[in-house]
Amino acid sequence: MVIVCDDYRKDELLKNNRNKLSSVKYMSKQEFIRKFFFDYDKRTIYELCRKYDYSYDAALMYLENINYIDNKKYNNEKLDKLVSIKNYLDSNNLLIYDKLFREYLKSNEVVFDSIDLTKADNIMINELKNITSVTIKEKEYNKYTPTIIEFKTMDEEVEYVAIKICELIDSGIDISNIKISGINNDYDNSIKRIFDMYNLKIGKSINLYSTNTVRMFIENFNSDINKTIELLKSNKCDRDTIDRLIDIVNSYNFVDDYNLVKDMIISELKSIIKEIHYDNEIEIIDIMNNNIKDEYVFYLNYNQEYIPKIHIDDYYITDDIRDLTRLEKIEILNKKERINIKRALESIKNLTITYKLKSPFASFNKSNVLDIESIKGSLPTKYNYSNISNKVNLTIMLDDLIKYGNINSNLSLYNKHYHIDYNTYDNKYIRINTKDLYEYLGNKLNLSYTSMNDYYKCSFKYYLKYILKININKEIITRYIGSIFHYVLERGLDSDIDINETITKYLNDNSIELSDKELFFLDKLKEELPFIIEIIRKQDDFIKLKKRLYEERIEIKYHNKIDISFVGIIDKIMYDNDIYALIDYKTGNDSIDMSLNYYGINMQLAIYLLLASHRFEGAKFAGFYLQHILNKVGKSEDISKLEAKYKLVGYSNTKYIGEFDKTYKDSSLIKSLKIKSDDLYYSTSKVLSDDEVNNLIILASNKVEECIDGVVNANFNINPKNIAGKNIGCEFCNYKDICFMKNKDVVYLDKKDNFLTTN
Ligand code: SF4
Repeated sequence: MVIVCDDYRKDELLKNNRNKLSSVKYMSKQEFIRKFFFDYDKRTIYELCRKYDYSYDAALMYLENINYIDNKKYNNEKLDKLVSIKNYLDSNNLLIYDKLFREYLKSNEVVFDSIDLTKADNIMINELKNITSVTIKEKEYNKYTPTIIEFKTMDEEVEYVAIKICELIDSGIDISNIKISGINNDYDNSIKRIFDMYNLKIGKSINLYSTNTVRMFIENFNSDINKTIELLKSNKCDRDTIDRLIDIVNSYNFVDDYNLVKDMIISELKSIIKEIHYDNEIEIIDIMNNNIKDEYVFYLNYNQEYIPKIHIDDYYITDDIRDLTRLEKIEILNKKERINIKRALESIKNLTITYKLKSPFASFNKSNVLDIESIKGSLPTKYNYSNISNKVNLTIMLDDLIKYGNINSNLSLYNKHYHIDYNTYDNKYIRINTKDLYEYLGNKLNLSYTSMNDYYKCSFKYYLKYILKININKEIITRYIGSIFHYVLERGLDSDIDINETITKYLNDNSIELSDKELFFLDKLKEELPFIIEIIRKQDDFIKLKKRLYEERIEIKYHNKIDISFVGIIDKIMYDNDIYALIDYKTGNDSIDMSLNYYGINMQLAIYLLLASHRFEGAKFAGFYLQHILNKVGKSEDISKLEAKYKLVGYSNTKYIGEFDKTYKDSSLIKSLKIKSDDLYYSTSKVLSDDEVNNLIILASNKVEECIDGVVNANFNINPKNIAGKNIGCEFCNYKDICFMKNKDVVYLDKKDNFLTTN
């Protein structure tokens, strides 16, 4: 016998049949349909995308819809297109038919148990009846009358449910018998905040695509995908996510070069939801796919805007042609939605339904699925289960009184019990527990020059940006412009490229979608690229070191209570034998003022030295420079002035510079580098002795370790640095609205020059 049913029903049947020996095969409706008609796999989707130039999502949509048509001429463009897609797939053996399954069914009865049957299902069942016997068992429904409670706000609704759950637990109800249903993403914040105050845990769903592991996977996507997976493992990324990624990439093992299916894999990742569960959590259930008996269910979000679900006529097979197919009309779909949710709600014995009239962002109405009067809800006044929540509520009541003159009936009661420092604010950072910090970080920390620079400018800024990951949204183009230019230069310096094509490839490979305004801005900026490439190629004539490495990623591993990875990417390394020179392209106006290095600030050049000395043992550094590549050049500017703008800016090692720059005596390559008649450098030349270069590497190493020490000890005080009268900490900082910096927080320091010289 084959029983077609949902998972919850299968569990029930298995439980009831535990002692009976019967050979029953359980299948979901979807599994049965795929075996009865046809199935498809990733190869089918891949070939469909290639043949018709479809996106992954479009290919899936067509594949789902060919289930609902017959092999005939419809004289309708959309339906005939589906027929031709089906014929193409059949003629290329891209659909998977299970002929043995139909043979198997001939000697096995099929039972559709508690399944909601559609028009397409009924057509299939009629066909099925020609080969075997079919039984349909209707789902059984109860008819209870639930209580419906109205709340003014979403927070009140959620808090009421939290209190009621606490009461149930107090009265001895096992937490596994308490369920929540109806909520959507809008409830995430409210539930997280309020349930935390009541010590209640609830599972959550996150999009796999938004995780750091997947981000790293996409950023390091390689045609040899094993290399990408190994990189994730060596970076100790989340093991579960890596396993999911391995399953996904394995399903594409019919290609040799994974770049061919990169878009498909990214699209697939966008649709995968990862569930996170906790011990003793309140389970979230879908009441349509559950058989609830004595469990206590709280159905929130009973608002007309969400229940019943409304289908609108925006499917590929639109309402005007659905009659020609196996699909139901939209009106029938909507009627069924209403009937099914009504039956599901009425079948639950211990059900409390709640809804809100407003959330922080919108107003709502009560749903009309059930014809039951609602009662006005309010929070219990005499006691509750959370002191924090009571204090928060007292603050809200005081706000209401002071701002609008409203006196809440609970105000005097709450005010008598709690003393709160209303309208006072202490901006002091209170050190977080380091154990919690390590757990939150997954016992690993990634650092870079940029994050270290932020730490030294103000540790609280680092905390907000890299620990709490509070992102003050910037336009996408501002985040990516540097990477786009680096990508073009890496490819354009050694060979001729089409700049437009190269940029488009970068945007596509990294799934970056720019607005029209941003594209216009990018068009303006990229006008400079051919000129930059020409100048940099010309500068090559002045350079003696002819070996090159581009975009070299270098990692130094540390361990200080947790694993730390310090990573940097050097844009261009020129070398020969043991002599090295380093260049970093900059699209911004980064300062190289070394006097701040003493405080760990502006150390990008020193950090590149440290990284390169770590990678290339025994390296001697002739120089280390920035090259500004976005100089907003005017078309009418004199060519020699333009070339001067693109000169390297940085420090040269007097001992080895002659082995790097052929023109170092009056450099055509390095800004301000020039020797006087007495063979000494002009005072404007930025030069260091070999000892000073080595001291700089030692300083960089110490500063990285000091920064690591600060972070792992959770030292995140508000301490913006004011150096020589200028507050460089808060300058350009986006977190002013969060930290409420006070004058007493500022750390005043003097500039330190010549600190690299050791006599
Ligand atoms: S505004 Fe200043 S004090 Fe506040 S976080 Fe930023 S740097 Fe720190």
